[in-house]
Amino acid sequence: MARYTCANCRLCRREGQKMFLKGDRCYGPKCALDKKSYAPGQHGQMRHKMSEYGMQLREKQKAKRFYGVQETQFRNLFDRADRANGVTGDNLLVLLERRLDNVVYRLGFASSRKEARQMVVHGHFRLNGKKVNSPSLEIKAGDVIKVKEKSQNSPKFKEIRDMQITVPSWLSVDVDKLEGKVLVLPTREDIDTPIAEHLIVELYSK
Ligand code: SF4
Repeated sequence: MARYTCANCRLCRREGQKMFLKGDRCYGPKCALDKKSYAPGQHGQMRHKMSEYGMQLREKQKAKRFYGVQETQFRNLFDRADRANGVTGDNLLVLLERRLDNVVYRLGFASSRKEARQMVVHGHFRLNGKKVNSPSLEIKAGDVIKVKEKSQNSPKFKEIRDMQITVPSWLSVDVDKLEGKVLVLPTREDIDTPIAEHLIVELYSK
């Protein structure tokens, strides 16, 4: 599957928003958005009045970039959200939040969703005791995500054991065991990702 491999900081600068794609660097003085708070490229510093369509498009791009999802996958998730009961925008964000790579990130086992995705692909986790390597896998209430035995002694996970980790209320984590649990499925209120989902719904409803 195609994957966006260009500089992550350009994506943040394009959206004018920190998307925390580079882990620790995002919290320090080296954050590119703090240094250059305008869009990348030759015309990045020019002021543009954005059309309604432009705003909707940007919001969709932002959501995709926050969660590291490609266009087709995102469209499929939207269609599922639209078919499900309830508010489409809320459903969409909940589906994005339920991705395994996002849950690994939320549990504090990775410093960014991108790193979480890589760790899942490399097989560092067990889901309910079973081997998994698909970042898009959708977690359910009651699921247990654990760092596999062999990986637990790696410097990365040893470091995590010494950290103070705060997780959202729908998750719980045991850092000594390097294990997290999905207590309940998240609702829209639990999701703090700054996305105006109604703009995405408007875009796809045209
Ligand atoms: Fe975005 Fe992080 Fe780069 Fe800052 S350092 S621009 S938050 S990816």
